[in-house]
Amino acid sequence: EAKARGKNTFHFFSQDLNEAAKERLELESQLREAIREHQFMLYYQPKIDLNTNHIVGYEALIRWLRPDNKLVPPARFIPVAESTGLIVQIGEWVLWEGCRFLARQCSRGLNVDLSINLSARQFRDNSLAETVERILKRTGVEPKRIIFEITESMLMGDTDAAIHQLNQLKSLGVSLSIDDFGTGYSSLSYLKRFPVDELKIDRSFVQDIPEDTNDMDIVSAIIAMAQQMNLRVVAEGVETVEQVAFLKQHDCTLVQGYYFSMPLAEQELNQLEFTIN
Ligand code: C2E
Ligand code: MG
Ligand code: MG
Ligand code: MG
Repeated sequence: EAKARGKNTFHFFSQDLNEAAKERLELESQLREAIREHQFMLYYQPKIDLNTNHIVGYEALIRWLRPDNKLVPPARFIPVAESTGLIVQIGEWVLWEGCRFLARQCSRGLNVDLSINLSARQFRDNSLAETVERILKRTGVEPKRIIFEITESMLMGDTDAAIHQLNQLKSLGVSLSIDDFGTGYSSLSYLKRFPVDELKIDRSFVQDIPEDTNDMDIVSAIIAMAQQMNLRVVAEGVETVEQVAFLKQHDCTLVQGYYFSMPLAEQELNQLEFTIN
């Protein structure tokens, strides 16, 4: 009896595994096709300076527009792109596309920057800085207008290699930001070892302001810490006027979130009033 049930269980288990593996393989081959067929798009979410209510820059966020017209969010395909290594090619496309976009924005006379997310695999790539340098040169984008976003987990493990990579990038003149800040494990002393310019407060700490006093304490502590360390601080996921007021009151003047704008395609973005309000 027990043996039979055990067998059964194993049978179902391996069938599930097969299903998951099949789905992954399918997604992988669809991703290869997406690269070949240029099915990716970048959306751009405005970053606002609360002091002026001006758009000071954007964050580039990738979308996959499938042939059936479904727009697939990055959470659905970045992990597979990452584990298959396809992310390196996709990430390079993001760099080109983002820099070309930024060059167009600047040629319209706008004084804006662009935040670009780097994946773990991309960040470990020894040729990343060289690739970035080449793309900046070819697109004519000023390095100071680019901010690379990395996460705390990418700085863990081989910290010497991480510091080396950060320095390589910094020497190009770009800025570096720690995305989803507060969700990882970086301590103050740890943070000080990395040549970063900006902390981006994770959306999870912002979303329950002003109901969650714990989160409010965490956010004001991160802001104070950033100021102490001379780092810029950006709050992400700002959705309400109360959150705007809280952040302003605590001197976090750089914000992005649905309250101001969703991520938009370039055409939609160009129709936005440059000053929000
Ligand atoms: P992230 O870098 O932390 O990006 C912020 C995410 O929060 C975006 O989701 C954005 O659409 C969403 N968001 C912005 N404001 C609000 C808000 O007010 N409320 C809510 N609920 N959400 C908001 P998205 O575009 O789905 O991207 C998810 C993640 O995928 C990104 O998180 C980033 O880690 C990754 N990602 C996106 N584009 C790229 C890319 O080009 N390369 C790499 N490696 N990763 C990317
Ligand atoms: Mg980001
Ligand atoms: Mg983030
Ligand atoms: Mg996030």
